Amino acid sequence: MHAAVAPLAEVCFNAIKARGYLLHPGSCWGAECRQISGTNRASNHSWGLAADLNAPTNPYTSTGEHDIPDWAYDLLRAYGWGLGADYNGKKDYMHVEWMAHHPTQ
Ligand SMILES: [Zn+2]
Repeated sequence: MHAAVAPLAEVCFNAIKARGYLLHPGSCWGAECRQISGTNRASNHSWGLAADLNAPTNPYTSTGEHDIPDWAYDLLRAYGWGLGADYNGKKDYMHVEWMAHHPTQ
């Protein structure tokens, strides 16, 4: 995780865990995790500005399958994170990404 956003990510993820949604150790940061989603699309992971949360139960899918609670997504939005769950069409429910200073936006 990029040094600039890692502390904020930790605050948010600790808050989510404290409310009862556990983030498993397999949840991961950065470029090394890109294969999990099974796609080759360009991703903020390569910049260290994104994380995938509990990927096995929050897949990249159009079926709506996920177990991250709505309140957890709301918390992340409130802190300024972009969510794969907010994509149009197929959703990337595991994906959390820092949007504010993305080089291509
Ligand atoms: Zn991702």
